[in-house]
Amino acid sequence: MYSFAEGDGKNKALLGGKGANLCEMTQIGVNVPPGFVITTEACLEYLDSNALPGSLLSEVQEHIVQLEAETGKTFGKGPDPLLVSVRSGSALSMPGMMDTVLNLGLNAETLQGLINQTGDERFAYDAYRRFIQLFGKVALGIDDRYFDEHFEAVKKRVGVKADVALEAAHLKEISDKFLDVISRRTGTDFPQDVMQQLQLAIEAVFRSWMGKRAVDYRREFNITPDMANGTAVNICTMVFGNKGDDCATGVGFTRNPGTGDNEMFGEYLTNAQGEDVVAGIRTPKPLQEMETEMPEQFRQLVELRNTLEEHYQEVQDYEFTIEKSTLYCLQTRNGKMNAAATVKTSVDMYREGLISRDQALLRVPPELLEQLLHPRLHPASTNKPVALGLPASPGAASGKCVFDADLAEKLGNDGEPIILVREETRPEDIHGFFAAQGILTSRGGKTSHAAVVARGMGKPCVAGAEGIVVDVALRHARVGEHIIHEGDVITLDGATGDVYLGAIPTIPAHFSGELAELLGWADETADLKVLANADTPDAARKAHEYGAMGIGLCRTERMFNASDRLPIVVDMILADSVEDRKDALARLLPIQRDDFVQLFSVMAPNPVTVRLLDPPMHEFLPTEHDLLEQIETLQMYRDVVRGRQTALATLDHSVRLPEALAELSEEHVDDALRRKERMLRKVRELQEVNPMLGHRGVRLGITYPEIYTMQIQAILEAAVLCSEDGIIARPEIMVPQVITAREITEVRRMTDEVIARLEQKSTGKLAFKFGTMIETVRACTRARYLADNVEFFSFGTNDLTQAAFSFSREDAENKFLPQYIEMGVLQHNPFEVLDRKGVGELIKMAVKGGREQREDLRIGICGEHGGNPDSIQFCHDVGLNYVSCSGPRVPVARLAAAQAKLRAD
Ligand code: PEP
Ligand code: MG
Repeated sequence: MYSFAEGDGKNKALLGGKGANLCEMTQIGVNVPPGFVITTEACLEYLDSNALPGSLLSEVQEHIVQLEAETGKTFGKGPDPLLVSVRSGSALSMPGMMDTVLNLGLNAETLQGLINQTGDERFAYDAYRRFIQLFGKVALGIDDRYFDEHFEAVKKRVGVKADVALEAAHLKEISDKFLDVISRRTGTDFPQDVMQQLQLAIEAVFRSWMGKRAVDYRREFNITPDMANGTAVNICTMVFGNKGDDCATGVGFTRNPGTGDNEMFGEYLTNAQGEDVVAGIRTPKPLQEMETEMPEQFRQLVELRNTLEEHYQEVQDYEFTIEKSTLYCLQTRNGKMNAAATVKTSVDMYREGLISRDQALLRVPPELLEQLLHPRLHPASTNKPVALGLPASPGAASGKCVFDADLAEKLGNDGEPIILVREETRPEDIHGFFAAQGILTSRGGKTSHAAVVARGMGKPCVAGAEGIVVDVALRHARVGEHIIHEGDVITLDGATGDVYLGAIPTIPAHFSGELAELLGWADETADLKVLANADTPDAARKAHEYGAMGIGLCRTERMFNASDRLPIVVDMILADSVEDRKDALARLLPIQRDDFVQLFSVMAPNPVTVRLLDPPMHEFLPTEHDLLEQIETLQMYRDVVRGRQTALATLDHSVRLPEALAELSEEHVDDALRRKERMLRKVRELQEVNPMLGHRGVRLGITYPEIYTMQIQAILEAAVLCSEDGIIARPEIMVPQVITAREITEVRRMTDEVIARLEQKSTGKLAFKFGTMIETVRACTRARYLADNVEFFSFGTNDLTQAAFSFSREDAENKFLPQYIEMGVLQHNPFEVLDRKGVGELIKMAVKGGREQREDLRIGICGEHGGNPDSIQFCHDVGLNYVSCSGPRVPVARLAAAQAKLRAD
């Protein structure tokens, strides 16, 4: 347990983020109300043994005595009673996920003291009723609704809408009713002993670490015990923003978290308590208004903001209270911002000299960049908004309106796009946020719960759209004369605050100047190059825009699947002789060549790695089941055609059938049947028990050399065509599924034969690289020998992971993997985050073997892991040359590659 004046501000694991920052702020001279922190270690001990550590209460007592000395107030008695807040705070910020109690220390005696001391009965009863409810809910587990019904009944009887309109007598009546609620629901009276109050509150905060909300939140954001373990408890002298009009409370960001602009940003309420701002119960005013309303306090606030940024070298999200004209800072933490604002502040703070370039790169979480690829409303759309709220979190989304979080979760999990629509949101709505595309509230400001959580998740949010009246009971919302029923589609624009009826088309975001600059620094910093997995000229163009330095994997089978070539591919598969197969391949050749010309041109002068055909051939044919069904219908149709012919012959005049029917003659249907039956025979012939472990990859290439030969010829001819047009094409030929060096030499021989033929025709030398994928366990163990005949290795970690774990991604993810991760049997999904301990060891072995044989061997990775920051760190650490990932992951990978280098240094 540490007082704010002595705790180590750097030790967030022990003191929690909030506690550490309270200590640090106190020690750099920020005006923080005195207090102390109970450590996360005490929390873990409590959760472990279900009892507070032996000496905890006596230590608390000592710290309370110290607080009394510092403040001149007394705890539980006296003319000037000491009231404290009891707040949770773990190593990582989990906004609203754990519990807090305010105004603790009030009882019948201190209440009287507070009344006498402030001369403000209304204020004292207001504090009292808030405390009883919060304590009842948090420490005694009594649902809010038992209190709210009394509160609303009194408001209704008195005829007021706003809480501030209630008078002292009303609040006294409410407090008495609340005390009754406690006695009735717990069977004992509200505790008058303030040390007992404190003990119960501390225990409740400790327990909230394991509450459902907190556990769900940690699971969703992958917060593991090594990142945050247990909550600290911060016990802090209460200061009041609701003691009159020279009091206020508010929250601020040192910069605008929506845009990143360097300006005062935040909201405040005069004569209010902090929870009023955060809960969105009253709609607060922008901080700028304070400049005229409370100029001296505004000046102090600007000073506070500058002190915080200079000290933390990071955008801060802070809470403050002004009590009788004195400004106190109650909390600060690193501000959660959307991607655009995080990038902009990084570049700005570097330019302002506040942080270094490396810091600017390191402070942007790479995953966040994906948000920048979120869609915006199409600028050409002419729809008129029906309501305007606050632009609380940017991005645009359409979906069906749902008025509660449970239903949002259910429909969202069924794959429906959902907009969660609430009057205001509370922490218990969190599962609805996860499922929703966007969030709309009719009350609350830009720092309300809905806004903060949506921004953290990068989901669009419009808050405080007061023109919308939400009626959860009737399950509709009224906007002017429109009624939006549950299930109706609406569209939100979180960047403007506009709300539209119906779905509006969106367009993808484009790179800002700041992002381009930041990623430029990343490229200069990183050792790893970032390439893209792309199979079409369009995808290649996109990847190039995102900064891909080439294509690391073009899966040619995806080209085979396009509708203009699938019939030719099928002909090739059905061919009964090599000649017939060559005939089909000859028709495919110009199509493939044209594909490659386009790809090489888009990417020139960067490399394009083309992988030769990989999947088993039956993937291009219909399934046996479909074929049997088709054959059955064709047989029935043949009878119909036959019947019609017979019937036509009975007419005594001739009739011309419509053209389409005439073409569907008996011969034609017979032909179609024969073709389907042939296909069925082929499908049965190609059937495999484990197709992914069967006749695929290079094994196809070796048994049907004409297929690979055609592809190699298409690649090399495309390169020649490009160079004739002055385009620098850099093709790389990559062989999949290799297990032994002999396979490589076979494919290399095919390649040399193609080259020999081409060189007879053209004068120039063919420039290309030849390499292999490493995606089987055997390839890793034999890497030294494989390296003999290749210039590069590319780890196919999708297959390699599958091989190392001996389970398939599809089966694992649909069945046992979620439970394995939940139980901690595995820490991550190994298909998303590279498994360093197993697959990583295989990779290291292959890198070592390959480089020992060939020092200049270029090595990369092209499985899904190529776009995952943790896996990228591993790739850097083991000395790979490049990562290749899907186009939209390229910016993420570029930044992660730079961070990997900075972290390794
Ligand atoms: C891999 O196995 O990692 C890979 C890139 O190939 P594919 O995903 O096409 O099997
Ligand atoms: Mg593979």
